[in-house]
Amino acid sequence: MFDALTDRFTKLQRRLRGFGTLSSKEVSDALREVRVVLLESDVNYKVVGHFIRSLKSELEKKDITKALKPAEIIDYTLFQQLIQLLGGKPARLDASVSPTVVCLVGLQGTGKTTLAGKLALKYRNRKPLLVACDPKRPAASEQLRRVATQAGAGFVPAEDDVVKNCLAALKIAKKQGNNLVVFDTAGRLHIDDALMNELGAIQSRAKPHASLLVLDGMIGQDAVNQATEFHERLDLTGVCLTKLDGDARGGAVVSVRHVTDLPVYFIGTGEKLADLEEFHPDRIASRILGRGDLRSLAEKVESATSPEEQRATAERFLKGKFDFEDFLDQLRNIKKMGSLSKLLAMVPGAGKLDVDDHELVRVEAMIQSMTPGERRDPDIVDGSRRRRIADGSGSSVQDVNRLLKEFRQARTMARQMGGAAPGKLPKGIRLPGGRRRR
Ligand code: GDP
Ligand code: MG
Repeated sequence: MFDALTDRFTKLQRRLRGFGTLSSKEVSDALREVRVVLLESDVNYKVVGHFIRSLKSELEKKDITKALKPAEIIDYTLFQQLIQLLGGKPARLDASVSPTVVCLVGLQGTGKTTLAGKLALKYRNRKPLLVACDPKRPAASEQLRRVATQAGAGFVPAEDDVVKNCLAALKIAKKQGNNLVVFDTAGRLHIDDALMNELGAIQSRAKPHASLLVLDGMIGQDAVNQATEFHERLDLTGVCLTKLDGDARGGAVVSVRHVTDLPVYFIGTGEKLADLEEFHPDRIASRILGRGDLRSLAEKVESATSPEEQRATAERFLKGKFDFEDFLDQLRNIKKMGSLSKLLAMVPGAGKLDVDDHELVRVEAMIQSMTPGERRDPDIVDGSRRRRIADGSGSSVQDVNRLLKEFRQARTMARQMGGAAPGKLPKGIRLPGGRRRR
């Protein structure tokens, strides 16, 4: 996610840290660089202007040129201002009313139907009901039926009279006790009057609690233009950005809140129904600035492993006691959680590790070809053992070498995170088992 953006910010921060104090020229150079980084990431130029002005005025307040550690102040201010730009506090879908009615709108292909399925999965204990609202495209209705089945949710097929169908669905929801109803409305290639009238009618008659505009995060500023147009014609309560797993440059995420004044509720980070995250401005800012997102990572791990497993692994990890048995357990958990590269992107400094998910299978095979002794103490794996492991797992000695090297790096990272610098875990992160790290 936002690799290029993160890369440039990390470099800028590293360079600033090289200075003892900063002259006002260096500060304005740094600001100019932030501007370039944002513009090149396709952030809307008005948003960039606003951001640079607010950053500058904050830095002036702190009289940065006299400060002892100016780089830290810039870091901190950049982080705080970015959080503000992204909306400050997270917007949460209030799903307490029953039924909570959510209407998804957006152009064709932005990810509405997928998002309907993702919401159904996330709120599965609210007994969701997904309603198809695109009678002109039978395939769209079928697709919604599929994701509903996958998520274990109820489904209402499309009918010619879309508004009537929505109202009927609300009745069904009341009768069946569905606490969440999602309208998957028709998309078009472009905004047109007929569509807007139809969506307006759904809004005024079925009165959804939330009308969320779904935007394709890959398309950068165009997404923001779409948002402005939709927002002018419909009552929207928020935005969801999809496809942020791809090469999304970050322009849409950074711009959309400021341009539309609409909060971002959810982001889609993959094609699977589990690839949904709530939008937390602080976590996203942290990822953009290359500090990782340990909190989201912790939540993912928690949702995939049992509390006992988590406690054991976390403690071993933080002690830097970490062998191939743990590694294998982790790989299996990671498989349960989805993509490894997505998870690594949340670890500070590890966002750039290049991991191919298909390699997991091969890595697992190599570890399985090790003896229990080798797994516990990988340092004993010498040349002939490497040959044997390679042969046993159908890989090459180079593959085994690489695995051992990566393992050592991971172990070093674990030791650094745990033993040397406990403060590196963000304050307030609760280790499984109740211990709080401060
Ligand atoms: P709709 O026309 O708005 O209903 O869009 P769909 O839900 O049918 O999605 C269009 C395409 O985008 C499909 O191929 C989805 O699998 C894909 N898609 C949706 N959300 C995401 C996402 O978060 N990440 C990725 N990589 N693909 C997505
Ligand atoms: Mg669709």
